[in-house]
Amino acid sequence: MRNGINCSNTIVKIQTMTVIIPKEVYFTIVAACVRFANKKRPKDDWKEVSGIFTGKIINNKNEKDLYVSAAYPIMHDTFNPDDENVDDSDPRTVIDGYEYSDEDHASFALIDEEAFSRGEFTVGWWHSHPGFKVMLSGFGDRKTTISYQAHNPLAIALVFNPDRLRRQVELPQKAGDPIKQLRDDPGFKIFRMQDPNDRYSNFYEIEYRIEGFDDNEHVVRMAQKLAIDITNFFSGDNVFEIYDKFINSRINELNSLLQGVEEYLQTLTRKGEAHRINEVLSNQTRDIRKFIAETFIRVENIREFMSYLEYKERSTIIPKVEKILVEWDETVSQLNTKLTEIANKFSF
Ligand SMILES: [Zn+2]
Repeated sequence: MRNGINCSNTIVKIQTMTVIIPKEVYFTIVAACVRFANKKRPKDDWKEVSGIFTGKIINNKNEKDLYVSAAYPIMHDTFNPDDENVDDSDPRTVIDGYEYSDEDHASFALIDEEAFSRGEFTVGWWHSHPGFKVMLSGFGDRKTTISYQAHNPLAIALVFNPDRLRRQVELPQKAGDPIKQLRDDPGFKIFRMQDPNDRYSNFYEIEYRIEGFDDNEHVVRMAQKLAIDITNFFSGDNVFEIYDKFINSRINELNSLLQGVEEYLQTLTRKGEAHRINEVLSNQTRDIRKFIAETFIRVENIREFMSYLEYKERSTIIPKVEKILVEWDETVSQLNTKLTEIANKFSF
């Protein structure tokens, strides 16, 4: 990793620095993490997600702030606690099983390089603690954070718990301790290690500001809504398969709706009720347009969710998704022609 930040700041200055999190950065973390830890998946299958931040230092009135310009999901934990080679005492059986593969390291290098060419830097990392307290664990997280701070003293570590956002509770560090009720909490905290040379030193919380919302209540309401959409339509590994099946079924349904219209009009003609054809045709056309509008919302979701994929998934999944969306667009673009054909068949 390149270290492009001039760090002549004193430690006091660093601690007063605010981290600015734009809406899209926050939404990327929420979406990528909820994808692998949501109500649709059994709790035993909840996976931690890990990624990095790029950004830059910006000058404010009296001080400098750390502006996070993007969050990149890199990987979800594939650690298998049931593997016979895994010792029960391994802390990763409980938490922090993230471990970069060669492909993940390659993603990191590409993102870092891209950021550098824009005059930005890798400014830290983030990961999820699904169902666990938001903090830096002693065995993995602090060491990882140290490695980022070694390259960039201002680097941050963000920890997000989807459950904390959903239920607005702070989970206790150990089972049995009381749960703390929260209000308007975005589900995460940002940390830095006190001594960037000592992985056993303590960590402290960093002030942040989320931009792009009216207030904290708005932040949480929109993030919880996103979490529900992600749970319903971006859950797990097989998102392409889900979208492929969805679009195919929508194309089939649209075709059978058109066929239904034609059959209905044939029945009317046969029964000598041809005078109702115009009325029926216009009602049926309205229903079809409603069906298309509903599908359009889901298609927009699909396009939006592509930016929440893991970096390594982008080159394989996005072109395949674009291809099926083109199929949908083409089907819809033929709709008027098909409706006109049907109308012409039954006009007198
Ligand atoms: Zn952790």
